[in-house]
Amino acid sequence: MKKQSFYSCILAKLLGGIFFLAIYSCKSEYYTEADYFKVPKIDAHVHFLTTDASIFEQAAKENLTFITINVNAGENVSRQRDTAKALTKKFPRQINYLATFAFDTAVWNGDNWEEKTIAELENNISGGAVGVKLWKNIGMTEKDRAGNFIMVSNGRFDPVISFIEQKGLPVTGHLGEPRNCWLPTDSMTVNNDKSYFTRHPEYHMYLHPEYPSYQEQLAARDSMLTKHPNLKFIGCHLGSLEWSVDELAKTLDRFPNMAVDLAARICHLQYQSAKDKNKVRDFLIKYQDRILYGTDISYSESKLDSSFFAGIQATRIKDWNYFSGEMELKSRDVDGAFTGLHLPKQVVDKIFYLNTVKWYKLEE
Ligand SMILES: [Zn+2]
Repeated sequence: MKKQSFYSCILAKLLGGIFFLAIYSCKSEYYTEADYFKVPKIDAHVHFLTTDASIFEQAAKENLTFITINVNAGENVSRQRDTAKALTKKFPRQINYLATFAFDTAVWNGDNWEEKTIAELENNISGGAVGVKLWKNIGMTEKDRAGNFIMVSNGRFDPVISFIEQKGLPVTGHLGEPRNCWLPTDSMTVNNDKSYFTRHPEYHMYLHPEYPSYQEQLAARDSMLTKHPNLKFIGCHLGSLEWSVDELAKTLDRFPNMAVDLAARICHLQYQSAKDKNKVRDFLIKYQDRILYGTDISYSESKLDSSFFAGIQATRIKDWNYFSGEMELKSRDVDGAFTGLHLPKQVVDKIFYLNTVKWYKLEE
């Protein structure tokens, strides 16, 4: 497709003015909202709990495919694995999946957690998983026999991480939480965090100093990455450094095999771009090969009606307009208005498609 458009540009140039419109569209450096439906996109962070075909009919209209992420939360991990395997069999061109494993503290307290976890992963990834997800229960929930939080830097993870690496797969990690989680509500940046942590004081770490700190969560992740320099690592949710593109840039510089997804954190970029648009835009251009589009939308049987599909399409079009357009935008998560980042087509193509293909080694 790329070659075709290149040659049609050359042809139009050769034939001169009568092909003005063709030249104009070839030369246009930026996408419009209408292009959303034409350009191939991957949502690299969704959770599918159903194999319902209506999702894929809707997605085909939007030129959209998926990576569904199994996670050690909510529905049973074995059931998630079976659903993911069935999905990739039924819709091989539209979806890939990430495996995970159920963390068992009783087994951790025994001698052979490593072997058992590798065996579970082996079974989990045998269906063609393109990566393995680690979740925030590591660092924020699981405790050892002595009552200490089990951090991802713990040496017992090393053989498991090495096994994933030997399989040629990346680790996708949701480790830690947004920094807001450790701040008092009135110091938080985006409105969705303010309301979520107000409704869920049990998860608001500012109120729970007995838990590992924000800095300890990131230090554990960084220590694991230091021990595995060749591991490809995709940090979910902007690598838990959603609050500062400067800090995220430092981490990406430190770990050249790390990328991040945008899932459920685009509002944090919007919050920063409302203050300094060029800073966020420059960051995305500089790190254009290491940012993967994702939403964190969950698809379950009970949700799939026309208003659900209209809502998620509207969300993705808003995201598209933020990255590709230059109009003034609003979000209920961010106070005040901000403008689209007007990224060049080549950067938008990477964020919405090519980076996911590259980092998860998908077949194009
Ligand atoms: Zn998620």
